[in-house]
Amino acid sequence: MAGKILDGKKIGAAIRADAAEAAREFARCGRPPGLAVVLVGDDPASAIYVRGKVKASREAGIASETHRLPATTKAPELARLLDRLNQDDAVDAILLQLPLPGGLDASEFLARIRPEKDVDGFHPENVGRLVANLPGPRPCTPAGIMEMFRREGIPVKGSRAVVVGRSDIVGKPLALLLLHQHATVTVCHSRTRDLPAVCREADILCTAIGRAAMVGADGIREGAVVVDVGMNRAETEAQVRDFFGEDPKRLARFRKNGYTLVGDVHPVAMRERSSAYTPVPGGVGPLTIAMLLANTVALAVARQSRA
Ligand code: NDP
Repeated sequence: MAGKILDGKKIGAAIRADAAEAAREFARCGRPPGLAVVLVGDDPASAIYVRGKVKASREAGIASETHRLPATTKAPELARLLDRLNQDDAVDAILLQLPLPGGLDASEFLARIRPEKDVDGFHPENVGRLVANLPGPRPCTPAGIMEMFRREGIPVKGSRAVVVGRSDIVGKPLALLLLHQHATVTVCHSRTRDLPAVCREADILCTAIGRAAMVGADGIREGAVVVDVGMNRAETEAQVRDFFGEDPKRLARFRKNGYTLVGDVHPVAMRERSSAYTPVPGGVGPLTIAMLLANTVALAVARQSRA
């Protein structure tokens, strides 16, 4: 039986509509919520992500501005910009797009953003708040996944959850959020022995690995909910056929663009063995952007209530 598709576009649109409503409510104080996005260097993927984030935030009634700095930017210059945004009363949320060009240490600059303007929840103080389950901004991708579970009525409490990947932006915070919602959580990584056996224990399997279709049918318990965060490129026609079978849409996309996106879980295995799953693309990606808007408005409201 094919699993239900967890449609990230649709769920993301609902989250965005709620954020837009909250932004309208906030704007009654005399100004819209403000988001400043800082983009350093000319990484093409980052430029695309930033454009998408700024467009979505404007559509939600958030005043957003992009600050572009060249790849040659030195640390003091970036520090000055962040300090200025920290002081700017019209800026409620600051997003520093990662990765930074070589020579700039991301952790130094993430810690420079004031915690109350840290829209991604990456500041050490906000990481501590997450660990302690205190209120604060949560990283957008894991927060979007938890919001999807809530909106789709997927029970987390008491479930066995397996998270593959332990990055600071996805795996670790997702594991903590699941734990706070009373899942029994196992975190896997590149040194985990017999990964498929551990994955098979999961009622909820979340993968944030960055390896095309790495988890196969032997890693999915029949009826599990599978959340595939990975975004990888299938770059040969043989791979596309292996991952998607004779899927004319996928093959057409591959022939047009030279690649098609695939997650960390084998798409056919995921569809056939899960009870519900997030497709790639169109699953977790749209949730991430939607949560950026929700976080921005929440930071604006929190700042206003402190003023
Ligand atoms: P990282 O590279 O920071 O982390 C990858 C994790 O996967 C690491 O913990 C690593 O283990 C683990 N890993 C790597 N290889 C294996 C393996 N063979 N077996 C088990 N574990 C392994 O990646 P991110 O967390 O930043 O991103 C993961 C994926 O999610 C990427 O494809 C990225 O593009 C995508 N992504 C998608 C988003 C979205 O909005 N849809 C948002 C963010 C990311 P170890 O720690 O031991 O090295």
